[in-house]
Amino acid sequence: MSSFEPLTRAEALEAWSAFMPKVVRYAGSRNQVQAGHGNVSGLSAAIRFRLLLEDEIIEQTLERHAFHEVEKWLQEVCWRRYWKGWLEMRPAVWTNWRRRVDWLRKHLPKEMLARVEAVAAGESGVASMDAMARELIETGYLHNHARMWWASFWVHVERLPWELGADFFFRHLLDADPASNTLSWRWVAGLQTVGKTYLVRRSNLEKYGSRYLAGGDAGNGRIADEVVTASVVKEVDEVVKKPLPKYLMELPESTGRVGVWVHADDLVLEKGALAGCAPVSVAGYVSERVYRDGYRLSDRRIESLRTVMHDGLARARAHFECAAVMVEADDPVEGLSNWAVEQGLEEVVAYAPMVGPMGDLVPRLRSRLEGCGIRLTLVRRASDELVFSFAGAGFFPFWQKMSRHLNQLQAA
Ligand SMILES: Cc1cc2nc3c(=O)[nH]c(=O)nc-3n(C[C@H](O)[C@H](O)[C@H](O)COP(=O)(O)OP(=O)(O)OC[C@H]3O[C@@H](n4cnc5c(N)ncnc54)[C@H](O)[C@@H]3O)c2cc1C
Repeated sequence: MSSFEPLTRAEALEAWSAFMPKVVRYAGSRNQVQAGHGNVSGLSAAIRFRLLLEDEIIEQTLERHAFHEVEKWLQEVCWRRYWKGWLEMRPAVWTNWRRRVDWLRKHLPKEMLARVEAVAAGESGVASMDAMARELIETGYLHNHARMWWASFWVHVERLPWELGADFFFRHLLDADPASNTLSWRWVAGLQTVGKTYLVRRSNLEKYGSRYLAGGDAGNGRIADEVVTASVVKEVDEVVKKPLPKYLMELPESTGRVGVWVHADDLVLEKGALAGCAPVSVAGYVSERVYRDGYRLSDRRIESLRTVMHDGLARARAHFECAAVMVEADDPVEGLSNWAVEQGLEEVVAYAPMVGPMGDLVPRLRSRLEGCGIRLTLVRRASDELVFSFAGAGFFPFWQKMSRHLNQLQAA
């Protein structure tokens, strides 16, 4: 297991405390890929699973620093929320990506699939890029700049389908996030900001990632500045924008037997609208079948999902002072509904899962529970509601609204 990415809330809080003094230097140093990654926080897995809330990071940063001193840091923390909100309003971008991954695996010519496997195994023959692929497989992490270079290499040099590159990242990154991953890959490919692609350049590696050039120069000519040109990537499905789905932001009073569903989109149940709930039981799930057969996740990734879920459940057990069970099921919907029935629940409450694997479960879970006479009540954090509502268009208008909000927060 990589020790760089904290996977329990206690580790995450410790890592955040250690990184906090560095946030004022972040803007000047973040782009450099350093050994040990001391210039970036390594908090992405903790943030992705919400072992740590973005709100906590933002508030504690603004308690110590003026907004203008830490704007870059806050901006990056908010990029993830921007992507989340953007995808909440365009859920089909996620489902279409998953569908395309399956389709491409079935229909691509054999030679191209063999190339996909070789490049993803770090056997492309381009030494710098192969070092990045191996680093990802071995540690479950890549610095943001390395993610950009490697994704660009995949799309614009190897000319392989972006969907399968994004799938390789999704299977190995410990912070794999349906929004940040899918949308960053689309951005590199030129789909997210139409006509704007990101091109890998050897000179950029020399400046920011020379460690990747230290392991021999074989094949690196393929990323020479004058050689790399943008590949034209076409949108397969139309991107349809919908209104932000509405959820409750406060939990209505309940008198019956209530259970809490803890899931990996939000593992800090002791904070926010659900903290005041009085459940008789709490449950989360892990599913080897879904992880291995459905998403083909790496062993390291599956292990990390188990670790974060155990941590979330242990804290929920302590906070709510009730039983907390880990449902191990081939079908999470069946496992969770069996738990709800066995516990004699009248209502299951949860933070609203976001677009992605957890969100995909909701329609079936709701109908299964309703079939057993059990209500499913989903609550969205008020700050998510606000921040997601800013993500209707591009990042620039988002950041204008967000920075205004953060300045107001600081003034208050
Ligand atoms: C092709 C590609 C795929 C990516 N896939 C993911 C992914 O699956 N999950 C994921 O969390 N991030 C992803 N990112 C964004 C970014 O690379 C990582 O969040 C960051 O490298 C995590 O390291 P850190 O925590 O040390 O970042 P820091 O620099 O310390 O940043 C602090 C936090 O801000 C957020 N953040 C920083 N940069 C970005 C960014 N560019 N986009 C979105 N959020 C950001 C993260 O939550 C991060 O933990 C991807 C980027 C690219 C180019």
